[in-house]
Amino acid sequence: MIDFHCHLDLYNNPISVFEKVKKQKIQVLCVTTSPRAYISTSRIFSSAQTVHVALGFHPELVAARYKERELFEQNVPSCRFIGEVGIDGTGRNKESISLQKEFFRDALKLAENNFGRIVSIHSRAAVKDVLDILENTICNNKPIMHWFTGTLNELEWAISLGCWFSINPNMCFTKKGVEIISKIPITRILPETDGPFTQKNNISYMPWDNTVIECLARYRGLSIDSLNSIMHENLTQLMS
Ligand code: MN
Repeated sequence: MIDFHCHLDLYNNPISVFEKVKKQKIQVLCVTTSPRAYISTSRIFSSAQTVHVALGFHPELVAARYKERELFEQNVPSCRFIGEVGIDGTGRNKESISLQKEFFRDALKLAENNFGRIVSIHSRAAVKDVLDILENTICNNKPIMHWFTGTLNELEWAISLGCWFSINPNMCFTKKGVEIISKIPITRILPETDGPFTQKNNISYMPWDNTVIECLARYRGLSIDSLNSIMHENLTQLMS
C-alpha cells in the first residue's frame, strides 16, 4: 500500500495513525508544510522504514513564514524528498504569488544543485506557472504533481516534462478528474490521500485508503492485485 502525499503529522491522533502505517508497512510520503514542521516530524517518524518525511514549505505559508526560508535551504542537502512546495493561485494567495514563484524556483534550483530530489508539488490554480518554472529548472529533479487539476493540454505538457502524478481520491469522483486519471501513463502514477485535509462524509482519508486503486482498476480494466504491484514497481522506479 502506498500514500505518496499525506500530512501524517496533522491528523488528530498522529501517533496511532503512524503505528498502523508501521504495522501495515504502508509506504508514505509524509509531506510537511514548513521547515520547522519538517524538523520536528522527522524526529518522530524516522523510526519507520516505510515512512519518508519530505522537507516542505506550503505555498500558502511561504509569505507569512518567510523567515523560515533559511531553515529550508539549510536542510535541502541532507533531505531525500521535498514537499509540499509549489504555487497556489486561489483567493488571497494571489497576493503573494510573486514571492511564491521566487521561492519555488529557488527551491528547485537548490535541489538541482544537490543532484536532484523527488519533489511533491502543489499547483492549485497555478499549473501554468508551476510548469513554466519546472521547464526552466528541470534536470535531475523528479517532480510529482500532487492532485493535478490543470487542463488536458497542461497535462500533456507535464507528461512531456517527465512529471509523475499522485492521484487524490477526490479526483475519482469528478468527470475531469477521471479524464485526467485516464490519460496519464500508468507507469507515472502513485496513489495519495492528502489526508487529513481530504475527506469523504466528513471523515479524513487514511493512508490505507483504497479508493484510488479501485478507481484505477475500474478505468484501466486491471485487477486490484496487478495494480498494487504496478504501483510498487513505480515506486521502486521513482526512488532508484
Ligand atoms: Mn497537501
